[in-house]
Amino acid sequence: MFDDIKSNEEAKNFLKNEIKMEKKSGTYLFYGERGSELMEFSLAFAKGLNCSEEPFDFCGKCDVCLRIDSGNYPDVEIVEDPTGIKISQVRELIYKASSSSYEGRKKVFILKDVENLRVEAANALLKIIEEPGEGTFFILNSHSLNIIPTIISRSTAVHIKKKTPEEMDVTKEEYEFFFGDVGQIEKYKKSNTDLSRPVPYTEIGLHIKNYIKDGETESKINIQKSLRDFMRNRKFLENIEKIYFAEEIYRGSRERSIAENIMYESILLNDDLSKTEKLLYIKGMLRFPVNLQMALKIFFMEI
Ligand SMILES: [Zn+2]
Repeated sequence: MFDDIKSNEEAKNFLKNEIKMEKKSGTYLFYGERGSELMEFSLAFAKGLNCSEEPFDFCGKCDVCLRIDSGNYPDVEIVEDPTGIKISQVRELIYKASSSSYEGRKKVFILKDVENLRVEAANALLKIIEEPGEGTFFILNSHSLNIIPTIISRSTAVHIKKKTPEEMDVTKEEYEFFFGDVGQIEKYKKSNTDLSRPVPYTEIGLHIKNYIKDGETESKINIQKSLRDFMRNRKFLENIEKIYFAEEIYRGSRERSIAENIMYESILLNDDLSKTEKLLYIKGMLRFPVNLQMALKIFFMEI
């Protein structure tokens, strides 16, 4: 049930109302900061449109709801690509959207990270979202409204706000440590990690390696702790020490997504706002085939 979600009253009421209106098709843009529950709301809405038990809501228990939750319902599809959905994926989507539904109910396509869509892919998408066929719904997820304006104007925008510390039952310090990210906070609550024990910045490579090996929340938290240690001390560090830090990250992993995430969190932790634009620019370079180690060095020299 929508009421089981303990946040975003406004968005919940709006979506319940949309289902009540029994629209034949629709395009929605769910937007909210990173860490907000865009996917939870997208799946809730998809269930609400398709649930066989609960009129104008979802039960969460019927066969349809359970299959949507486990990703085994053919009429609800999640389209994603962390580096930006490609035009080939949009073409496939157009084909699927124009064929009939498997289960005879509503077809729902959830598109993740629409803020990363490239121009050609976005243009191809525009045609289909403007007038979706009967029984077809698009839910676009975006972490910002800095996307092609025609996509915004052709969809119904729904703001999904982050949960507050009270709603997640954590302290303000715990909340801020994870930048209010619901997924990370839930994992932290299940682990027995002590947030107050410090980790030196020189250990970041080790913790990245551990995290890749074990995927444990504690390893992830240790990466964040060493990053915080670097950020606290960076004004007192020599350039050579900053380069060492960048090299340690690279030694930890050559995975671009890991470097990108560390850069992203550094930007959030950086209190000198005059540097934000430049730092975002360097982080953005990772999408192109630039030398990763070099980009990391430039970034951490600059911060
Ligand atoms: Zn149900």
